[in-house]
Amino acid sequence: MAIPNVKRFRPFCPTCNDSYTLMAVLPQDANIEKYLADAVARHDHKAFIDSKTLHTKVRVGQQKQKKSK
Ligand SMILES: [Zn+2]
Repeated sequence: MAIPNVKRFRPFCPTCNDSYTLMAVLPQDANIEKYLADAVARHDHKAFIDSKTLHTKVRVGQQKQKKSK
């Protein structure tokens, strides 16, 4: 089976003040810097921050469960 040429990037989003994981299949002659700049410009900031908030809530909930034991 051919392995697709998927690459992982960690672009930094100044709007979210954090970096996020980005998976992309790029042609070999792609301009990665330009691609990442485009990706950050199109980043879904609200969804990213929402998912981060969700993770924090889950972690706090787990800690509370441990303490109550
Ligand atoms: Zn963002």
